[in-house]
Amino acid sequence: MDPLSRRNLLAAAAAGTVMTAASAAQAASFGNPDRPPQGVTNTLSNPSSATDPGPQNPALASQFPGAFSPPATDVGDMPMFWASFNNAPRRVQNGGWARQVTQADFAISEQISGVNMRLTRGGIREMHWHQQAEWAYVTKGACRITTIDAAGRANVEDVGEGGLWYFPAGLPHSLQGIGPDGTEFILCFDDGKASEYSTLMLTEWMAHTPPEVLALNFGLPAETFARIPLDDLYIFQGAMPGPLAAEQAEAAGSVGRMPRASTFDLAGMAPSRSTKGGEARIVDSRNFPASTTIAAALVTVHPGGLREMHWHPNADEWQYYIAGEAEMTIFATGPKAVTQNFKPGDIGYVKKSLGHYVRNTGTTDLVFLEVFRAPEFQDVSLSDWLAHTPRAMVSQHLNVDAATIARFPATKPVVMPQ
Ligand code: MN
Ligand code: MN
Repeated sequence: MDPLSRRNLLAAAAAGTVMTAASAAQAASFGNPDRPPQGVTNTLSNPSSATDPGPQNPALASQFPGAFSPPATDVGDMPMFWASFNNAPRRVQNGGWARQVTQADFAISEQISGVNMRLTRGGIREMHWHQQAEWAYVTKGACRITTIDAAGRANVEDVGEGGLWYFPAGLPHSLQGIGPDGTEFILCFDDGKASEYSTLMLTEWMAHTPPEVLALNFGLPAETFARIPLDDLYIFQGAMPGPLAAEQAEAAGSVGRMPRASTFDLAGMAPSRSTKGGEARIVDSRNFPASTTIAAALVTVHPGGLREMHWHPNADEWQYYIAGEAEMTIFATGPKAVTQNFKPGDIGYVKKSLGHYVRNTGTTDLVFLEVFRAPEFQDVSLSDWLAHTPRAMVSQHLNVDAATIARFPATKPVVMPQ
């Protein structure tokens, strides 16, 4: 047997055997299961193997240590699962801006399309609707939303930082910044192809309807509509809205409010799971009944912590990184294992049922959203699986004794350490 094989190195380490420099380098990578060995740790005797003399942009390249110098356990290739709002072109107008990352920009993102929007105080995203459902999370400030359902029942609600809203496919709505400095939020459509720039807008329909039809439709003289905008407004600076209760009463009229709230305070809810390593807040149709097609988790991982090895059996995962620094490794058949780095404003994407974990690689809390096109959040924990399988079965796979397996986390910590 190769004296530097992984098994021998692990056995030597366990026995406290003194290792050579070369074997220590390999052991430090904790495994080189593939031949030929990959990773910088295997080039130490030939350093130019890992240098990059070619053209490069150091400012950009330095952001991706996991890609430039993958762990020795990484193998193979998989479709790019990193994207970002940081380099997405902004559509800036008087009143705010928008930028988006759709499947046209990010091929893997089949189930979710993402938008990042900012509205000034009083700034309005024009009244509109679209064929996809819309789920949003407020990262700064506060926003007032208005919407109605097919029965004409109206919701007018204010959403603060850490809150979210959900509009079912096809139901019309408006958004307005109301915080001292307006608002910023991210918005997910439940279809990767959806574009924020392909919505059905109030002004466009009005402008493209003959005046006599408008007159007949609203039962008023055609002159009523003589001053409607001929171009869409999309985002514009508006006047601050009136008191919430008054606007709610006015919108409800004699028909009333929608039976379910359109908003939910995600950051304000008690953690669904809390450990020494961090916490997770899970929101889906079970605690926010309006959200029938989107489930999500707001995850905080403290420095040194890990969003545990897991996968999601029911949907792809779209991630939005809010704070801190992360490194995610995804495992797929092949085998394939690929690592990528994430910072605030970045987007990650994991196909349904592929194994993955997310490490906090910074010195501050890592905060990110996991978003799924599904009515319920579901994940399968690797440690949970091993802890809830007969120990003899697991032992024969991993060569770990039953007493040690009994110490594996058995209650799905979500974030480690427990
Ligand atoms: Mn919308
Ligand atoms: Mn996940």
